[in-house]
Order: sequence, then C-alpha cells, then structure tokens
Amino acid sequence: MLSTMQDVPLTVARILRHGSTVHGKSLITTWNGPDEAPRRRTFAESGARAAQLAHALRSELGVRPDEPVGTLMWNNAEHVEAYYALPAMGSVLHTLNLRLPPEQLVWIVGHAQDRVLLVNGSLLPLLAPLLARLESVEHVVVSGPGDLSALDGCRPAVHEYEALLNGRPTHYDWPELDERQAAAMCYTSGTTGEPKGVVFSHRSIYLHSMQVNTAESMGLTDADTTLPVVPMFHVNAWGLPHATFMSGVNMLMPDRFLQPAPLAEMIERERPTHAAAVPTIWQGLLGELTERPRDISSLETVTIGGSACPPALMRAFEEQHGVRVRHAWGMTETSPLGTLARPPGGLSEEEQWPYRVTQGRFPASVEARLAGPDGGFMPWDGESAGELEVRGPWIAAAYYGGTGAEPDRPEDKFSPDGWLRTGDVGVITPDGYLTLTDRAKDVIKSGGEWISSVELENGLMGHEAIAEAAVVAVPDEKWGERPLAVVVLAEHAGDVTYEELRAHLGERVARWQLPERWARAAEVPKTSVGKFDKKVLRGRYAAGELD
Ligand code: ADP
Repeated sequence: MLSTMQDVPLTVARILRHGSTVHGKSLITTWNGPDEAPRRRTFAESGARAAQLAHALRSELGVRPDEPVGTLMWNNAEHVEAYYALPAMGSVLHTLNLRLPPEQLVWIVGHAQDRVLLVNGSLLPLLAPLLARLESVEHVVVSGPGDLSALDGCRPAVHEYEALLNGRPTHYDWPELDERQAAAMCYTSGTTGEPKGVVFSHRSIYLHSMQVNTAESMGLTDADTTLPVVPMFHVNAWGLPHATFMSGVNMLMPDRFLQPAPLAEMIERERPTHAAAVPTIWQGLLGELTERPRDISSLETVTIGGSACPPALMRAFEEQHGVRVRHAWGMTETSPLGTLARPPGGLSEEEQWPYRVTQGRFPASVEARLAGPDGGFMPWDGESAGELEVRGPWIAAAYYGGTGAEPDRPEDKFSPDGWLRTGDVGVITPDGYLTLTDRAKDVIKSGGEWISSVELENGLMGHEAIAEAAVVAVPDEKWGERPLAVVVLAEHAGDVTYEELRAHLGERVARWQLPERWARAAEVPKTSVGKFDKKVLRGRYAAGELD
C-alpha cells in the first residue's frame, strides 16, 4: 500500500523561507574585532540579502543551476548568505578550507571547476598569489575590507560584494528542486592522498539539521545564541548555519578572530549560550581564562568534537566555569553528526561521567557496526573493538568525481554493501555508546597488542603540568611499534620529569603500554582544522628532530 502523505521535497530553500519569516527577528552577529561594533543582521535581512546575492550571481555572473561556487570565507553573515543563496537557487555551495596548503587549494578548485569564488577581503593575500594557477576561475567576488590592489592585473573579473547586491530585488522565486540534488560540497583534508569531495544533498542537509535540533543532540532554541567557532569550511560548521534557521537560534560569528583572547572577549560581551569547536580551541581558551579571567557565565553548553576530547578538559570547563561539555563524533563523510554524548536519564552527576566521556550515542538515523579483523562483525559489548562502519541518510555513499555507472567508491572507504568505513577503531556498548580508541592509522601496534594513543593522551592531559600531549607510534626493533609521547608543558606549571609523567600514566594504563620515548615541544603541530597532526610528528621523529 502506498502512503497517502504529501511528497514535499526537503530543500535548503524551505529552511531559508522558514528561518527568514517565522524566525525573521533572530540575529546573526558578526564580530568586527575589539574596536568596532559587531554587525548585526536579522534572519529576515539575511534572507533578503541571500535573494539579492542569488540574483547577482545568476544575472550578472551567469551562475548556472548545478554549478559549484567556491567560498573562501570566515564565519560571518555574508558566508551565511552564500550558504543559502547557492543551494536555494539550485547551484552548489563549495566551501574552501582556507588553511589548506596552497597546492591542495589549487587542486581542489581545479577538481571542482569553480568558475566563481566568493572571498573575504582579509583573505586576498592568500588568494592573490594562487590566482594565476586557478584556471577555472573567471570571477572573484570580494566581501569585507581588504586590499583590492592585491588583485591588480589578475585575469578573473573582480567584483565588490556589496556593490553586486546593491539595488537587486530582495525576493527570489526559489525553484522547486529534487531533494536528492547537490546542495553543498566539501573536500576532506587529504591527509592521505588527494582530497576527496563529499557532496551533500538538500535532503541530507535538511534531515541532518533536524537531528542537530533534537533534544538528544544540540537541542537549541530561539532563546539561545550559538557561537560556531568551528569554521564554516569544516563540514558546514557542523550543521549549525542550517539548524539555526530551522529553530531561530541566534548566531554569534567570530569572523577571523579565532584566537583565545578575542574569543574570550566576544563571549563576555555578546553572551552566547552555546559554542562549538575542536578540543584544541577549548584547551587554548581554558589557558587564556586562567591567565586573564573573563565572565563566560552565559555559556551553558559547548559541543566538542573533531578529535577526542580529553576528559580533563571537560572536567575543567565544568568545575571552573560551569560549562557543560557535550562530546560528539563525526566526519566530513557523515555531514558530520554521527554521535553525541548525552548520558541516559536517571543518573547522578557522577554516574553520568562514564557516558559523557564517550564519543556518544547514535541517533536513530545513523546505523553502526564494528568490522572485526577477519571479515565478521564484533558484538556491541563495550569491549570488542572493530573498525566503525556507518550508514544513514546523511552519510556519503561515494566521493565527487565518479559517474553513475562508475562511482568513486574506494574499497578502503566503502564496504561492498555500501556502508562507510570510517577508519576509526572503537567499541560500542549494548545501549549504543561509542568509544573510539583510535584512528586505524594512529593506533600503536606493539608486539601484537594495540595501544590506544588517545588513552595515553587523555591520561597525560589530565596532569596539571601538561598543556597538550600527542602520542604517536614509532618503529621499534623488538616490538614493531612503541609509543612516543610528545608533551607541551603548561605555562607557569613548573618543571616535571618524564619519570613523574610515567608514574602518573601508570595509574591509568597497563605497564606495558607506558611510553619509554618522550619529547618536549613548544606546541603540537595542528592540521588545517586544528587537530593534532600526527603525520608531522612521525616525520619529525624519523628526521631525528624529536628526542
Ligand atoms: P580530517 O579527516 O581531515 O580530520 P574530518 O573532520 O572529516 O577531517 O575528520 C573526521 C575524523 O576525525 C574521524 O574519522 C575521527 O577520526 C576524528 N574524530 C572526529 N570526532 C572525534 C571524536 N569526538 N573523538 C575522536 N575522534 C574524532
């Protein structure tokens, strides 16, 4: 029997229409630095400007349906306008990671064949030297202050964002689209091999936004203001720019002011209730607040994901600042929300901790299984480890660039029956809480046993003298691999010996897992999205630069 329900396409234009009318008064506040007032725009104004942008792109720059348009932008109101205008008009938002090495940016723009780029003026020094090699690019649209002379003599036509919008109609007849059509794309950072393009559909974005808004996920409302520190080029800022328009959640956008001091200042002045970022950002903010206390009492919860959040960091935020940390796991290929750690009901605060430090629980739409070493699947018993595989309506089925007949579906990333192989190793409890022990490529294989680098890092970062710690596998004649611990000492923490650190770890992990190789560093190198870059650390060790 067929249902008798309406078949309404789930599109980004629907989210925009809803947000800019029902929640028309909600605000996007963009930080302009300490000396200038932030710019504030309502969702209604943003919707009108998105319409103007769509008109400009279509009639002035000839942007076609289905065409990707690149954005090289910080988290700000104009980027939100592009987030809505492009998919709603039937084109494709292509966010570019501005922290990638130039070679990769050039490769990605060429692979996507971006013809139009929207760029923040402050990023022209980054873009200008690359333009000669960006052969597909015909138009550059510059938004916000910047030195336009950097583009003098460049081949693409240069446009000024506000001038382009000026005087255009504030209404656009958004076309009815197939919900399975591409709405946005984002490339993985290419830590291994060339970056891969993940293409999100209208439907996947819509359903993902609904999940972000559930009480079991971030569950924000129009009484909230969220501060997405996670960049809009890092998997759509974890879905926040879309989820906010669904529920009228106000946004505080940090623009390029992502260092701990300005973040602390904007939190004190603008009083967000929620924020989202990778652990290294929070570690930095915690240090800043210890040095120069600020009032961050407005913050109720922060969502931390992207890499394992050290439990010590969660405790510190809670105990020192009354901020509840919610740990989440995801990846570009999962839109990104895969799990979020809300404890089950009915538990005391202390009983909740073992759940809160996990990567979290799977929502109904994300199915999970653990692939074992010999082709079978491991039980959900909280002990048997395997590689996590997932499937669901906002999980990638292939990468950009293949064809219908021959999709780009590499075997190491997709199982023959279509599940995404995440490359993450972990265990799942019978009630669906995931604990990741490592990325498959970061796990330390010592004499036939596996050592979790994450467990050692979490242990070390729980020591008061340690600001950051990264543990990587290094070759060992006897054991195959052994852990090398690279530690960054906390400011003013005094000295600490490796023996003391070993003893501290010895209370948490088995003796044979304790690192015998140690190194100190001024900081742990980070990837383009702020995660520990273990590849660089392994390289430094091999080059004899760490001991
Ligand atoms: P990249 O691969 O460039 O880091 P992604 O942001 O897509 O780009 O990274 C996804 C990966 O990040 C996951 O496969 C996982 O290894 C790691 N990750 C994300 N969230 C967590 C988390 N909460 N705990 C541990 N690892 C995480």
